[in-house]
Amino acid sequence: VEHYTEAKAFQDRTLALRHEGKRIGFVPTMGYLHEGHRLLMRLAREHADVVIVSLFVNPTQFGPGEDLASYPRDLLRDNEACRAEGVDVLFHPEPGEMYAPDHSLYVVEETLSLGLCGATRPTHFRGVCTVCTKLFNLAQPHTVVMGEKDFQQLQVIRRLVRDLNVPIRVIGAPIVREPDGLAMSSRNRYLSPSERAQALCLHRALETARAAFSAGERRVPVLKEAMRAVIADAPAARIDYMELVDADTLEPREAADTGTRAILAVYVGSTRLIDNAALAGPGGV
Ligand code: AMP
Repeated sequence: VEHYTEAKAFQDRTLALRHEGKRIGFVPTMGYLHEGHRLLMRLAREHADVVIVSLFVNPTQFGPGEDLASYPRDLLRDNEACRAEGVDVLFHPEPGEMYAPDHSLYVVEETLSLGLCGATRPTHFRGVCTVCTKLFNLAQPHTVVMGEKDFQQLQVIRRLVRDLNVPIRVIGAPIVREPDGLAMSSRNRYLSPSERAQALCLHRALETARAAFSAGERRVPVLKEAMRAVIADAPAARIDYMELVDADTLEPREAADTGTRAILAVYVGSTRLIDNAALAGPGGV
């Protein structure tokens, strides 16, 4: 695996790869890689000659009081995962390499970013859109692979690419779960054993909504109440949001249909976890 920490050297390399006619597949991450990230790398490989992964815990997408300082980091382990997946290039800059002290420009998406995670984390998607734009300019990818685990983020980046005419194809990857159903996340390591057990309530709530939908229930309040009851069974869990939205617009639905996505954020203890699933079809659950 080739390593780069300097933005300019990394971009020189990707521009040269493009000049050679190589197709570049890119997987942006915050590191502490798990099997979900590794699926993205494998999907990128299917569409590319060269697979590039970035590891960057992006300060601008964290709000005050969030877990920027404590976010888990392990470069040696991440390097090993990338090597095992045949990743060609790894970019892992320090924050100072990505943001000049007088950095003064942001990319702001003004519709899809407002609700759900954006309501709780008002500057989060501004940070995501800004860092993704920077990383796209640095990595020069033809294809970017992102996970449905962060469903709102995936839709916001699709919108960024559409509305700013970015010449990149965005591919969404299904959610990779632990054997018991918990969506894999770097933040799962914050959970105590009791919280880890209770964290299953997110997946259970999604399964409950899917089962009710498949049994014919279309009333959104009824579906939401069934999900709420599952979360209420976990004493350490507190709902941040829980919605049934249109998968494309992320607008809340009046009645559920096959294009509806159940999406939620739940604090388990002090750890905020997110998950989502299509109500119909494979759904990734
Ligand atoms: P992160 O490192 O958490 O910022 O995630 C980097 C990328 O990996 C994003 O596109 C995420 O959606 C994706 N990702 C994270 N967890 C999973 C998962 N369990 N399954 C699939 N993709 C994931």
